Amino acid sequence: MPADLIVHGGTIFGIHGVDALAVRCGKILAFGRSADILRLRGPETRVFPLEGRFLMPGFFDGHVHFLKVGLDRTFFVDLSQARSLGEALELLRVRAEARPGEWVVGRGWDESRWPERRYLERSDLDRAVPRQPCCAVRVDGHMMAANTLALARCVRPEGQFIDRDRGHLWEEAVAEVLSLVRPERETLVEAAAEASRYAASLGITSVADMASPQDFSTYQVAERRGLLRTRIFAYLPAETLPQLASVGIRRGFGSAILRIVGIKAFVDGSIGAKTAALLEPYKGEMSRGRVLLGRGELARLWRKVMEAELQMAVHAIGDRAIEEVLAAARLAGVGFHDRHRIEHLELPTPAQLERLKDLGLVASMQPNFLQWSGPGRMYEDRLGPARDARIDPHRWVLERGIPLAFGSDGMPMGPLYGIGLALAPPHPLQKVTVEEALLAYTKGAAYAAFAEDEVGEISPGKWADLVVLSGDPAKTPWEKIQVEATFFAGELVFSR
Ligand SMILES: [Zn+2]
Repeated sequence: MPADLIVHGGTIFGIHGVDALAVRCGKILAFGRSADILRLRGPETRVFPLEGRFLMPGFFDGHVHFLKVGLDRTFFVDLSQARSLGEALELLRVRAEARPGEWVVGRGWDESRWPERRYLERSDLDRAVPRQPCCAVRVDGHMMAANTLALARCVRPEGQFIDRDRGHLWEEAVAEVLSLVRPERETLVEAAAEASRYAASLGITSVADMASPQDFSTYQVAERRGLLRTRIFAYLPAETLPQLASVGIRRGFGSAILRIVGIKAFVDGSIGAKTAALLEPYKGEMSRGRVLLGRGELARLWRKVMEAELQMAVHAIGDRAIEEVLAAARLAGVGFHDRHRIEHLELPTPAQLERLKDLGLVASMQPNFLQWSGPGRMYEDRLGPARDARIDPHRWVLERGIPLAFGSDGMPMGPLYGIGLALAPPHPLQKVTVEEALLAYTKGAAYAAFAEDEVGEISPGKWADLVVLSGDPAKTPWEKIQVEATFFAGELVFSR
């Protein structure tokens, strides 16, 4: 039986003295020297020449909100490029016409770049979009303009972050209106397809998705229609646990493309919003943030997750939140081989990392968060320089042999960007090697989702989910590296 695909003539990540690989029925059949592998060629075999480029397993984004990535690209109207107030209104009008009856939601407008030099107002939006609810969030995310129909759905009293006359909303009122926006099923399916296309262009072939029940049902439709070219390993909110348990849905339920892995729980918020739970107060304040789910309650939930044979993924950013997770894991009787995961893990102390290792927890981290670290940046502003210097401690995690998975949390999605920051972090002590970074974004993330037997590595029997990079990262400056082609189950799904 000949191969369906042969990729040859380049460097293959992690395998020395080998430059070719053969694929059959979507899976890796063999690798070796070109002369040997090309013998598997038949009349139907597709041959893809690497021409000296670099072949590696497709990236596995270890923490993302996949549908949101798609919605950002399909449903929300990007107003950031509008050169005038009139142009912004025109973009909203065109969208409203294309999708009658649906919410029209703009994002990213910036009046300081417009000749009119004034905010969007209710009367402007009423003129452009008279027959359906419409709102538009300012570039900073803290302010929104809304039309009459959108304002009518917002019940908060006048004056509480809302000026109905001008149609302006701020802060929590912005979040409230956005929570009312419910795209149609078809819009959601289209967003899932777009997220998958976009992922392929970034070299991503698998994701661990922190999904809502609605996201998961959308993915099912998208998969049935053949629109998913990304494997989705889903983690559902804790509220869904009773239903999953009652029908006996365990870790791994689903297909080769879409499956349920575990439950996601939150122990704290974020550093940016000063809601991450810290052992010491935020810089210049009394507040230490908030623990949303204490150790006792978390331990009870954790036990139920284990009884249901699901995996636990706990969001914990601040050192006090991490303390609660470690204590809860002990109370719940988590064993070294159970492989549960801690999401973000931004501010652990070295002593906490020792305990984390003993509990066999996986560190699911997002190197792109380093964009906010360093002198004058947000983390330093919130935490002071001493704590900023130990944020996202990838080196400490690796040194202790803690399993490390890299992801993006969609801020933004894109492994090349995140890896760039991990290779040259603001605090060089935490620097990782390019090999360590590539492993965390492939094999490490696959291990974190119990998928290491299927993806994340180039070896016979694994899915032929592959990415071609423009050069060997060991020999090329990282900024010069580009994604050139992506294969999903042996099928070319992206090519530059
Ligand atoms: Zn997230």
